Amino acid sequence: MSFLSATLSRVKPSPTIAMTAKAAELRAAGRDVIGLSAGEPDFDTPQNIKDAAVAAIAAGKTKYTAPDGIPELKQAACAKMKRDHGLDYTPAQISVGTGGKQTLYNALMATMNDGDEVVIPAPYWVSYPDMVLLAGGTPVIAETSLQTNFKLTADQLEAAITPKTKWLIFNSPSNPTGAGYSREELKELTDVLMRHPHVWVMSDDMYEHLAYDGFEFCTPAEVEPALYDRTLTCNGVSKAYAMTGWRIGYAAGPVEVISAMRKIQSQSTSNPCSISQWAAVEALNGTQDFLAPNCVTFKRRRDLVVRMLNAIDGITCPTPEGAFYVYPSIAGLIGKTTAAGTVIDSDETFATALLEEADVAVVFGAAFGLSPNFRVSYATSDEALTQACGRIQKFCAELT
Ligand code: PLP
Repeated sequence: MSFLSATLSRVKPSPTIAMTAKAAELRAAGRDVIGLSAGEPDFDTPQNIKDAAVAAIAAGKTKYTAPDGIPELKQAACAKMKRDHGLDYTPAQISVGTGGKQTLYNALMATMNDGDEVVIPAPYWVSYPDMVLLAGGTPVIAETSLQTNFKLTADQLEAAITPKTKWLIFNSPSNPTGAGYSREELKELTDVLMRHPHVWVMSDDMYEHLAYDGFEFCTPAEVEPALYDRTLTCNGVSKAYAMTGWRIGYAAGPVEVISAMRKIQSQSTSNPCSISQWAAVEALNGTQDFLAPNCVTFKRRRDLVVRMLNAIDGITCPTPEGAFYVYPSIAGLIGKTTAAGTVIDSDETFATALLEEADVAVVFGAAFGLSPNFRVSYATSDEALTQACGRIQKFCAELT
């Protein structure tokens, strides 16, 4: 019998991190690899936020804090929920964690019992199903399709719900597709949830501020106020404020769940980094002026990538509303052979061949639960994107 926990055999390491590591390995070996696999903005953290961190160090704010966050950050999160969504929360309803990832993990650990099901629309962020499994629950995958631009329909949600369903994990704009739900589209889903009072919604709003073409972000608790008591709204500073390394995320929801999350955090990581928390206070309370120019840059890059990928015979790439990803279909390339003789029988083969033969790193769709596709992160320079898409065009043109 293995010395390791049996739970671990049910989960896999993050494929996005694995792909990024493989690209780094090839680069270290001297190959000119362009990485389109990492899920982080290439912008630097804004100066006012860095200054707040430096000031926190100078002021000696370098000690343990309350396990789930300093009062100032909880207050800033409450103010943000009111300002952006018109939702009232008190600090006792806020949990701050070490990144959005830990916040989601704590929430699942705090609520899952054996046999509990969690509905996860596919394609999904790679960590959702594995977190559910680690917490002892059962992921129930609800597949979406290219026809709805990868958005879950009311019928698909209805079909996935059973008496054992505990949560729907909702993510808009989405990683990996960039798809953002309009108020009307989201209302159709919340209407379904209103018919199933035992189902809660965990809304992952991490990409809220990265939205283009006038897309208006909305979150379940504001679209259907009657869901307030069974909604956990998760967010963080990683993506919008270019703070992936600072590791701060937060959640707003019912006190009972927030208290349970605090208990888990107090017995695992204690508190998130005190200095990062002070930086996050500035991120939420300080100027938001850099968000709009960043979105202009991201929109330009999105359009560039969508145009260049759609110019390829066999690839279909929808134009998403937000985040910094596109999720093209390669259905038209399956069965073809690369210049080096590899038969493209899956999106994993495609991504591996693209890395090995064309020096472009992307993540294959199977990792996100919907094939045959691949995910491109366009959070890199226009030059790198143009060059990478040019390589993908050439690689595909040489397929026979
Ligand atoms: N949720 C989604 C959809 C993400 O894409 C990510 C990061 O990639 C996270 C949550 C976690 O973010 P953080 O870096 O704050 O842990």
